Amino acid sequence: MGDWFADGLRFECTGCGECCTGASGYVWVDETEATAIAARLDLSIDDFGRRYLRRVGARLSLVERPDGSCALLDPASRRCTIYDDRPTQCRTYPFWRSIVADEEAWSREGTRCPGIGRGRRHDAEAIRTALRATGATR
Ligand code: SF4
Repeated sequence: MGDWFADGLRFECTGCGECCTGASGYVWVDETEATAIAARLDLSIDDFGRRYLRRVGARLSLVERPDGSCALLDPASRRCTIYDDRPTQCRTYPFWRSIVADEEAWSREGTRCPGIGRGRRHDAEAIRTALRATGATR
């Protein structure tokens, strides 16, 4: 995988919040990330876990509101409330295996995310680094 984006891909977030809302899904969080987010919210790790995490098999995911939006998204401003400590999965979006699998998948995601195809060009190596960071999870 990878040849099709050898010249890099354009992406620049507009801050619209679409990727943090809508269809239900998982936002994987590891222990290091959970600890950082809990500290940012001034919660103990246990309180943070009770309020914001759900166990899915052996892993942990952030919880969602009933409308599918992330519980850590401010519903009024549609801004992430933990942005600087957001999980790797959020940090590496949209450079996920499922999205950069081929040009068609990338274009399809572009109908949802207005940041795709605009702004700064990310070179192939940066994209591969993002893919390695999420491993096989996305
Ligand atoms: S959908 Fe795209 S442009 Fe909108 S907040 Fe998410 S990454 Fe940014």
